[in-house]
Amino acid sequence: MAVKLEFLGSGNAFLPQGRFHSLLLINDSILIDCPPTALASLRRIELSPSKLNSIMFTHWHGDHVFGFPFVILERKWISDRSGAEPLGIHGPKGCKARLSALCETAYPSSMEERLKEFDWDEGSNGNILNNPKWKFERFAVEHDTEVDPHGYVLTHSSGLSLMHTGDSGPCEAIESRVGRCDVVVIEMGVPDHVPTSQHYSPKSILDISQSNPNTIFLVTHTFLDDPSSPLTAIISNVLPKLPPNVIQISDGDKFLLDSSGLNKV
Ligand SMILES: [Zn+2]
Repeated sequence: MAVKLEFLGSGNAFLPQGRFHSLLLINDSILIDCPPTALASLRRIELSPSKLNSIMFTHWHGDHVFGFPFVILERKWISDRSGAEPLGIHGPKGCKARLSALCETAYPSSMEERLKEFDWDEGSNGNILNNPKWKFERFAVEHDTEVDPHGYVLTHSSGLSLMHTGDSGPCEAIESRVGRCDVVVIEMGVPDHVPTSQHYSPKSILDISQSNPNTIFLVTHTFLDDPSSPLTAIISNVLPKLPPNVIQISDGDKFLLDSSGLNKV
């Protein structure tokens, strides 16, 4: 069975031209993070929010979570008024409290009951809720510690495995796991000249992709404007030259992953 990977957004927090915030949808049902542009992204592909059955959070920066109240409010009043559709939510410890507070800030007293009906899992490994063919491992990565940053390895019952780095700079936790993953979704939040250890840049993606030639790297959460956008670039729309096992994602890119490899559709 093939796994479908669909990039609903591919930009960093600053929304480069032609990109929504980075957002990955797996098999039309699992979302990794829920950025401010999440509901817009779902509308753009005509996928009802009620079809989501698991959301997996990497960390608590706004560009990864602030879309959550809108997706839940939409389910409550539009696409799942009866509350019949299941939703599992995975995240680091304190996930339920954080997201409940966010919903309460956005729409006071409106979502309390609905949030109680969801399945919450703050454990660091196990089965993905409502997706019996998937297991996950969540691990700490190199990013602002105030937002409890993590990455995920997701393993399908067919044996295929996929890493999502979340937001992170190069670190042992990622490097030690990359070699056993078929595909790694990696962020490229900053250009090489920005002095930070908390994001990958073109140079550090070059390094990790050359050290792991059998793994395919899908670059998202990028600081670069999309070359296909007709609008004037904010930073630059010239993509760096990276090895053939690296694909720099655009919004809307879709792939099927199966035992023959990763194929763009
Ligand atoms: Zn972040």
